[in-house]
Amino acid sequence: MLDYEAIVIGAGVCGIYQIKRLVDLGIKATVLEAAPDLGGTWYNNRYPGCRFDSESYTYGYSFSREVLDEWHWRERFSSQPENLKYLNFVADKFDLRRHMQFNCRVRSAHYDKAGNAWRLRLSDGRTLTARYVILATGLLSVPTLPRIEGLDSFKGQSFHTFHWPHEGVDLAGKRVAVIGTGATAIQLIAEIADKVADLTVFQRRPNWSAPLNNSPISEAEMADIRKRYDEIFAACARTPGAFEHEPDRRGFWEVTREERVALWDKLYDEPGFGIWLANFREIFTDEKANAEFSAYIADRIRRRVKDQAVAEKLIPRDHGFGVQRVPLETRYYEAYNRDNVHLVDIAETPLVSITEKGLRTSAREYEFDIIVYATGFDAITGAYDHIDIQGVGGEKLRDKWKDGPSTFLGLLVAGFPNLLLPSGPQSGSASTNYPRAIEIGVNWCTDLLVYMQDKGYDRVEATKAAEERWTRHVAEMYGMMLMRKAKSWFTGYNSNVPGHEAGRIRYFVYNGGTPKFVATINKVAEKGYEGLEFGASGTPRPDSARVATAA
Ligand code: NAP
Repeated sequence: MLDYEAIVIGAGVCGIYQIKRLVDLGIKATVLEAAPDLGGTWYNNRYPGCRFDSESYTYGYSFSREVLDEWHWRERFSSQPENLKYLNFVADKFDLRRHMQFNCRVRSAHYDKAGNAWRLRLSDGRTLTARYVILATGLLSVPTLPRIEGLDSFKGQSFHTFHWPHEGVDLAGKRVAVIGTGATAIQLIAEIADKVADLTVFQRRPNWSAPLNNSPISEAEMADIRKRYDEIFAACARTPGAFEHEPDRRGFWEVTREERVALWDKLYDEPGFGIWLANFREIFTDEKANAEFSAYIADRIRRRVKDQAVAEKLIPRDHGFGVQRVPLETRYYEAYNRDNVHLVDIAETPLVSITEKGLRTSAREYEFDIIVYATGFDAITGAYDHIDIQGVGGEKLRDKWKDGPSTFLGLLVAGFPNLLLPSGPQSGSASTNYPRAIEIGVNWCTDLLVYMQDKGYDRVEATKAAEERWTRHVAEMYGMMLMRKAKSWFTGYNSNVPGHEAGRIRYFVYNGGTPKFVATINKVAEKGYEGLEFGASGTPRPDSARVATAA
């Protein structure tokens, strides 16, 4: 007898909603989480300055009216402690914690064709079996460190931002190094610049960034948001990025330069991703349009940074605005106007090694009390690669995806029956407002289970042909986007992961936007799940596994 009908791996934003859906259907299921508690990204990332850059009220779950009515978002872009509180509030409200097991990392998941079951081996020595495995392992959950000599030799405190100590770090009077200038570093640097004695930022490539323009949300504003929730979520469902920000439908070249600048001046002062997503659509696809807008942002940076030599270093040259994931900032550029903040260009003088006292570049040695690695993640496929997932005939998922993922709709993989990926690579989730996308993915996967129950199936697999079609489609969509040329995690770049260095593009994300993604996956379902093959093994289900009839 199987231990569970479904095992969900990961108790973050996705795993929490997935277990809610399974429990509501009476499916015998559990969540296995490597960390000591739930929350995923918002449990792990505790670095100062960590907060949403999605509007809080578009990031929260939409599935429960009660949650929407009871929760008060305190800030337009809520901070990590508050976000973790929110996820705990949701989990506790629906008593989901009793369906979660913590401190258990899944080492392997092997599909057994004869028994039509998955066998999972855990780090605590246990083996569990389940009909279905649902991967809710996150897109940015495997932090990566530089591949550099002497990493362990530093005698001070050092950690990746993902592992920022939960008990906090005493920064007062400390000489701190931050390596990296991605979205994480940009939040961190601005937050700690005035709290440390001395801060040195080691930048290999600058990122385009624009103001977050955060503000508190009063009781009255929250009451208004509650009234507008349906409207807000409907707007998110209409837009490519699943945000409130709708693209400006005017043609970039059809309006005057003055009109373009008027829009940019307005967006620069507005909250959130408007500057990226409410912009002219051509900035994503047209080199000349993108260059003109990038020059506008470069001028904004020059106006905010006093030392023009530093300003020039903070302006990206190798890519245009918005072709990589745009970090949003709060007085990031002003941090460089402080006497205690220094920028080191490690494209000019590369990092050579970490030493006992600090680090060495090709130019000189630096001494620090604390080194912070804000060096990013083995994004999107990293969490999958870290579990030994074997499908039919012992095929390893990490081998199949060696040169980049291939999936059907980002939700299933040929050769890996009963493995569901509600927020998989090539799904709508990575390139959009994550919780909006995971609700879509979780609902689709759950509806699939209900369909199978109704039809008497217990085995589902994407066909090779369907997978090839989707993967080709995802790749073709990159062809239209300037993003294909960028060295970022959207294209599978990470200099710290062997095989992920620049040069080979991986088709990690679906670029078609939320409305198209939803229309496509709904059509597949309406056509009786075209592209999937079903079977019935007749092997018994776990005792309490009775799927309630779908409402
Ligand atoms: P990231 O965007 O990948 O940035 C990593 C940074 O570290 C880059 O500046 C990179 O330089 C540098 N780096 C990496 N390896 C290095 C090495 N060996 N030597 C020197 N520099 C190195 O990672 P991230 O900042 O953690 O952000 C990842 C994603 O997390 C974001 O894009 C965003 O989606 C998400 N995030 C979201 C929020 C939010 O919602 N508020 C906040 C933070 C992060 P190169 O560019 O030269 O590689």
